[in-house]
Amino acid sequence: MTHSPLRWETGRNPNISDLFPSLHFNPNQGLIWLDDQRMVLFHMEDIGVLRQELIDSCGVEAARSFITRMGYASGGRAAKVAMKVRKPDSNSFLDTLYTGAQLHALEGITTTKLITGEADPATGHLFGEFLWRSSFESQVHLSSYGVCSHPACWLLAGYGSGFLSTCMGKRILVREVACRAMGDDECRGIAKPLEAWNAEAAEDVRYLETPELTASFSDRSAHKPKAIRRPRPTQALELATTRTPPVRTATGPVVGASAAFNAVMHKVQRVAPTNTTVLFLGESGVGKSSIAKELHRLSKRGNEKFVEINCAAIPEQLMEAELFGVERGAYTGAHARRPGRFEQANRGTLFLDEIGTLSFTAQGKLLRVIQNGEFEPLGSVQTKKVDVRIIAATNLNLQTCVKQGTFREDLFFRLNVFPILIPPLRKRRDDIPLLLQYMLRKYGGDDERHVKGVTAAALRAILNYEWPGNIREMENVIERGVILSDPDEPLDVRHLFSFDTPNSSHDILGLNSLGLLSKCPSDNLAGYDGDPDAVGDSLDEWAANLIKSGRQHSFDEAGDALIRAAVKETKGNLAKAATILGLTRNQVEYRAKKIGLRS
Ligand SMILES: [Zn+2]
Repeated sequence: MTHSPLRWETGRNPNISDLFPSLHFNPNQGLIWLDDQRMVLFHMEDIGVLRQELIDSCGVEAARSFITRMGYASGGRAAKVAMKVRKPDSNSFLDTLYTGAQLHALEGITTTKLITGEADPATGHLFGEFLWRSSFESQVHLSSYGVCSHPACWLLAGYGSGFLSTCMGKRILVREVACRAMGDDECRGIAKPLEAWNAEAAEDVRYLETPELTASFSDRSAHKPKAIRRPRPTQALELATTRTPPVRTATGPVVGASAAFNAVMHKVQRVAPTNTTVLFLGESGVGKSSIAKELHRLSKRGNEKFVEINCAAIPEQLMEAELFGVERGAYTGAHARRPGRFEQANRGTLFLDEIGTLSFTAQGKLLRVIQNGEFEPLGSVQTKKVDVRIIAATNLNLQTCVKQGTFREDLFFRLNVFPILIPPLRKRRDDIPLLLQYMLRKYGGDDERHVKGVTAAALRAILNYEWPGNIREMENVIERGVILSDPDEPLDVRHLFSFDTPNSSHDILGLNSLGLLSKCPSDNLAGYDGDPDAVGDSLDEWAANLIKSGRQHSFDEAGDALIRAAVKETKGNLAKAATILGLTRNQVEYRAKKIGLRS
C-alpha cells in the first residue's frame, strides 16, 4: 500500500484563538501561565542586551550554541502544550505542527508563514519551508551588530527543531537558510529529519550538541543537554527535549520544585543526619507528615521505625497510655502489657503531629522523655529508657500558646531547636502543576480510570484557587474529580468545584477574540471556529460570566441566544441548527418562531 503524506493547503490556518484559553494572566499574584507552564514577559531590548553580552563575552559560536539549545528546550515544552490543545490525530497532525508557529506568534517571538509543508507521522517523513517575519532575534541582532555573514535567528531555529522533534518523535533539524540579519529580505527556515540533510547541516547540528567551546560553561550548569546523535535510519531516537525539574516523590506526596519548597527541603537535608529535635510549623494540610517521613528516611535512623501519632485525634485521658504504654493490670481491662509509641519508636523516629493540643500533664511527661529518654508506662514504677528522635508539628503559634498558659514554656524551648516553616500552597504555586501531575497519576493512573488531563478552564481554576486547605484539600478535590469524571474524559471545573469557578472573576485575565486582556475570556466563543473541546470551556465561562455580569437573565434567554447563534451560523438551516444544539428540528423551529426568527 502506498502511503501519501499530509500536505499543507495554503490558507489553511487553524484558529489561533483556540490557544487563548491556555493563556492565563494573574497580575495580582505576578503570574502568567501558558497551560501549566509559568511564563514571563520581557522587554525585547533586555533580551537583546543579554544576547549581546553573551556574544561579546563568550564569542559568536558559544552564544549561538547556548541560544539554539535554549530554543530547542523551549520548542519541546511548547510541543507538549500544542499536543494538548490540538490532539494530533491523523487528520489534524499538520494543525498540531502549525500550533508551534502560532505559540511563537502569541509569545511575540515571530510570525511564521508556511510556504510548503508535508508530514507523515507514520513514516517520520517531514518537509517544511517557511518564512519568519518580524523575528525579534534578527531585529536585535541587526541593531547590535548590523548586517553580518551568518543567520541570527538561533532561538527560532532551535525552537523549530525542538518542537518538531517532539511532535514527530524523531530528530528534526530546522536550518535558517536566509536571514534579515544577513541582508536577506526575509528569514527563511527549512525543516527536515536529520538524516535527510546533507553535510551542509553539520554546522547547525553542532550548535545543538555540546561543543568543546561551551564545555566549560555547561559543566557549570546543573545539566548537560544530551548531544544530538546521528540517527539509525529505522529507529526513532530517544528525545532529550526538556529537562524536567527535580520532582521528589520519595515517600508520599513530597513533591515540588519551587524556591519555597527547595528552601524547606534544603533545611530538611541539613538537619536529617543529626539527632536534633525538629519542629514543623505551618497551616493544616501543607504536608508536614510527608516531609517528616522524608526527614526520617534521610536520617541515620532511616532503616528503623517511623512512628506517627496525631495528638489531636486521641482523647486526653488515653494520651499517656498511647505515648508511654500500659503495664498489665494498670487499670480494669488492662489484661496484657501494651507498649506505647515511644517504645515502638525505639532507635527510630517518633512524629508527634498537632503537638499544641497535648494536655498540660502529657506535656510534662513528654518534656522528661525528651530531656533524658526516660519514662514510666502507666501502672508501672519501673523506669524505661529509649533512644527516640522527636519530630513535632503544629499549626498553632506555640509562642502565643505559651503566653496564654496552654503550652509549657520549657517544652516549647526543647521542641523549638530547629523549626522549619512549611509555606502554604498559595505561596508555592509553582508546585501546583507538579502536584497536579502527581495526583492525576495517583488517582487516575490505573487503566480503568484513566484521566485525560484537565481542561483549560479547570487548570485555570486549579492554578488560581487560594487552596485554604493546602495540599490535602487539593488532593481531596482531585480525587473527587477523578471519581466524578467519566473515564478518558478530561477533568473539568464542574468535576472539581461544587461552587462557581473559584476566584475567576477577581484575578484572572485571559485573551479575548480581539486579542485584548479581558476578565471575560469567554469572548472567545464569538470568534470560535476550531477545536470542539475548547467550546466546552468557553461555554462554561460564557455562562459563568453571564451570571456574574449582574444583569438579570432568565434561563430561556440563554437558550434563545443559543438558538439565534445556531440559526445564524447555519444560515437558517434549521435541521443543521438542530444537530448543533442536540434538539429536534421541530424544537428549533418552535423556538425560532417564538423569538421572531421565523414567521
Ligand atoms: Zn533570521
